[in-house]
Amino acid sequence: MTSVRVAVRVRPLNKREKQLSSKVIIHMKEKTTTIQKPTVRGDELKGVGKTFSYDFSYDSSDRRSPTFASQEKIFRDLGFEVLKAAFEGCNACVIAYGQTGSGKSYTMMGPSHDKGLIPRICEGLFWELSHRSKSDAVTFHTEVSYLEICNERVQDLLKKRASPADDGGLSVREHPRHGPYVENLSKHVVQSYSEVESLIILANANRTTASRGVNDFSRRSHAIFTIMFTQVWFDAEPLYETVSKIHLVDLAGSEKVDPTRTVGGRLKESADINKSLVTLGHVISALADLGVGVSTTKPIFIPYRDSVLTWLLKDSLGGNSKTTMIATVSPADVNYMETLNTLRFASRAKNIVNSPIVNDNGSM
Ligand code: ADP
Ligand code: MG
Repeated sequence: MTSVRVAVRVRPLNKREKQLSSKVIIHMKEKTTTIQKPTVRGDELKGVGKTFSYDFSYDSSDRRSPTFASQEKIFRDLGFEVLKAAFEGCNACVIAYGQTGSGKSYTMMGPSHDKGLIPRICEGLFWELSHRSKSDAVTFHTEVSYLEICNERVQDLLKKRASPADDGGLSVREHPRHGPYVENLSKHVVQSYSEVESLIILANANRTTASRGVNDFSRRSHAIFTIMFTQVWFDAEPLYETVSKIHLVDLAGSEKVDPTRTVGGRLKESADINKSLVTLGHVISALADLGVGVSTTKPIFIPYRDSVLTWLLKDSLGGNSKTTMIATVSPADVNYMETLNTLRFASRAKNIVNSPIVNDNGSM
C-alpha cells in the first residue's frame, strides 16, 4: 500500500501577467505552498493566506532564486522513482493537472533546450540499459504508444493519418487480466532515445494538423504517453519475466471544471464540459474518501468507466501503480480562483492509496 505522491509546481509570471502588473500570490516553503487571497485595489491590508502541504512544492518562478526548482530537480525527485518502478517490474504513472498555461506540457515534455519528464525518463531508461545489458543474463524490451483523448474519442498520435478527415477514433476494451487497453493502438519498439525523439516529433505533427491551434487543442485534450517495459531473465528456470507499464499524462486544462460543484451532480454534456476531467474529479474524490476511511452506509463506488480517461488510468488511480500527480499553477493574483481549485484538487489526491505489485509471470 502506498499513497499517491503529490507535487505542486509554480511557473514564472508570463508576459500577460506582467503587463497586468499582477502580484505574486504563491509562496513556497519546503513542502508547503501558501496562496494569498488578492486584496481589493487600494486596500493595503494583507490578504488572508491558505497553506497546503504536499510531498513536494516546487518553486520554478525565478531562476535566480536559491530554491529554484529546475527540470533536472523534478526529474531527480519524480522521474527516478518511475525508472526504479520500471526495473522492479511495477507500474508507474505521472499525471500533470492544472489550468491551461500553468506549465503541464512544460513539465511533462518541455522545450528542446529544457526537456521535461517524458524525454528525461526515456533518456534515463536507455542510459540505464546501456550500463546493465552487457553483464546480466537478462534481455529488455521497450515499446511506446502515444494517444490523445478529445471529446471522449481516442486518437493514435503515432500513426500517420490517411487524410485530415480520417479521425481514426479507437475503442477502449478491458482484458480480464491485463486490464483496460485501446484496441488497434500502434505500439513502437524503441531501442534508443533518438528513436523515441523521432516518435515525439511525429506525435506533435499529428496534434497540430488535427486542430486549429496547438493551444486550443491541448486546452481540451488529454495526452497519454505509455512505455511498456519488459525484462526477461534467461538464467531462471522457468524463464522469469516482469512487465511494467508507465503512463505519463498531460491532462486537458482544468479550468471550468470545479470538482466540488460537480461531485454527486449529473454531468451536463456540452462542449465546455470535459467529461473525462469531470469524471477524474469524481474518481479522485471517491478514492480519497476511501483512503481516509470516510464511513458511509453504502459502499463507495468508483466510476472509472464513466469516462475514457479514467477507464484507461484505472490501474494508476487506486490500483496497481506507483502514481505521482504534479499540479501546476500560475503565480499571479489574476488566476487566484483557478489556482485555489488546483491546490484543493491536489490536496484531495494525497489521500488516494494505491497497491503496486511486481507484474511477474505469476501475476500477469
Ligand atoms: P499548459 O500545458 O499547462 O497549458 P504550458 O506548459 O504550455 O502550459 O506553459 C505555458 C507557457 O508557460 C509556455 O510558454 C511555457 O514555456 C511557459 N512555462 C510553463 N512552465 C514553465 C516553467 N517551469 N519555466 C519556464 N516557463 C514555463
Ligand atoms: Mg499543454
